Amino acid sequence: GKLSGILYMENNLSENAFTPERLEILRSFSVQAAISIENARLFELATTDGMTKLYVHRYFQLLLDQEIKRSKRHNKTFSLVMMDIDNFKSFNDTYGHQLGDRVLKDVAGAAKKISRAEDIVARYGGEEFVMILPETDSSQAMVLADRIRESVAQIEIPHRDKKLHVTISMGVSTYPDHTQDKDELIRAADAALYASKHKGKNCVSLFEKKNNPATD
Ligand code: GH3
Ligand code: MG
Ligand code: MG
Repeated sequence: GKLSGILYMENNLSENAFTPERLEILRSFSVQAAISIENARLFELATTDGMTKLYVHRYFQLLLDQEIKRSKRHNKTFSLVMMDIDNFKSFNDTYGHQLGDRVLKDVAGAAKKISRAEDIVARYGGEEFVMILPETDSSQAMVLADRIRESVAQIEIPHRDKKLHVTISMGVSTYPDHTQDKDELIRAADAALYASKHKGKNCVSLFEKKNNPATD
């Protein structure tokens, strides 16, 4: 009893094309189509974050598992990029959470826009995002990450008569160069992100194995 869509068909070549028997077949096709549409809608609801329209953390973990398996099988490399908005607590405290939410959407939009179709962009946590870059080595990932960083820095958020700006810090780790383990790969990108914070924020860092305990 719920409308999911409309099936429109016409035939102006012959008369009585839509016999009761044929209509009955179309009806059962339509039921299948309606179920598929509903499933697709539920799948999207379960895998994407309502605010940013990026993948949710849980689905990201699943996609990362798949990417590791795929890269292992085909002997490929891929990179992980972690990003975190700089001084976001103070932005919220100063301008309110609604404008903060707007920033989250804009940052997500910039990451989506600059990434390639095969890249995966997810909301890792509150104001943290993560990207899986298939078949991308460290230096290519650094270039892409820096383009996103640059594009975020150029976002203008109108507030009263001012235009506000935000920046992000980023960390890059690469499979299998840094590690072949999923959790360690995330930890490595995180360690690189924190290195960026220590360098003064608004920059991109590559994970460095030396004197870093993350993958030891
Ligand atoms: P740092 O530069 O070191 O990352 O500092 P920070 O202030 O960004 O880091 P901190 O972890 O102290 O603050 C993160 C803030 O992100 C706190 C929280 O209010 C904000 N935040 C998390 N999720 C959301 C959200 O969905 N909407 C809004 N508006 N703010 C959020
Ligand atoms: Mg954070
Ligand atoms: Mg932050």
